[in-house]
Amino acid sequence: MNKSHSGIGMTSQRTRARMIERLREQGIKDEAVLAAMFEVPRHLFVDEAMATRAYDDVSLPINFNQTISQPYIVARMIEILRGPDHHHRPLNRVLEIGTGCGYQAAVLARLVREVYTVERIQPLYERARRQLRDLKIRNVSVRYADGNAGLPEAAPFDGIIMAAAAPALAVALREQLAAGGRMILPVGVQEQSLYLVEREERGFRETRLEAVKFVPLLMGKE
Ligand code: SAH
Repeated sequence: MNKSHSGIGMTSQRTRARMIERLREQGIKDEAVLAAMFEVPRHLFVDEAMATRAYDDVSLPINFNQTISQPYIVARMIEILRGPDHHHRPLNRVLEIGTGCGYQAAVLARLVREVYTVERIQPLYERARRQLRDLKIRNVSVRYADGNAGLPEAAPFDGIIMAAAAPALAVALREQLAAGGRMILPVGVQEQSLYLVEREERGFRETRLEAVKFVPLLMGKE
């Protein structure tokens, strides 16, 4: 941790606790998700200039026109991924598409045995990798790749989370889900909705959830 960051170290404990309270008020119920988000130092994933706002319930810019997702949406997506309270499935392998700064991957790392995350912008990929390494988070594998292809070499996944919105509900990626696996993703261009895709014994079940606002899923690497 560098000097300027450790300067807000004390308050960040308190602001983090406040963030957790707010998430509860917003309806997040999964205690494991709340605990994981209490433990991950979100301020270390944003630029120093932005660090004082790190725990506000907003998305923030992280360079290259990308954003760190707002705490509520990170919590909500992971809660849905884990499934209903009464029977949490063990998550051995989860794929995240759109690493960004690596925050959501760091939260996932506390709840999942192996996390794979892919990012198409090289400097973001490199920074996220370094950040996760500095925090000694060892069960996240960060890859520089176009997430449109998923990550066939590590499939199947118990869960897939997309952090960028595809224009339509594409069907190729869901083939990388294990039986009983869940994929959670934003879909749409101007108007976006969160979708849950569950792999059932035969076929898939799609459920449309709330309206959301994500950066677009783009093609290729950069
Ligand atoms: N998970 C992040 C949010 C990242 S924002 C968090 O914890 O806050 C979405 C990210 O998706 C951006 O970094 C963007 O570059 C990336 N992205 C967009 N299209 C992609 C693609 N096809 N493959 C991989 N990453 C992609």
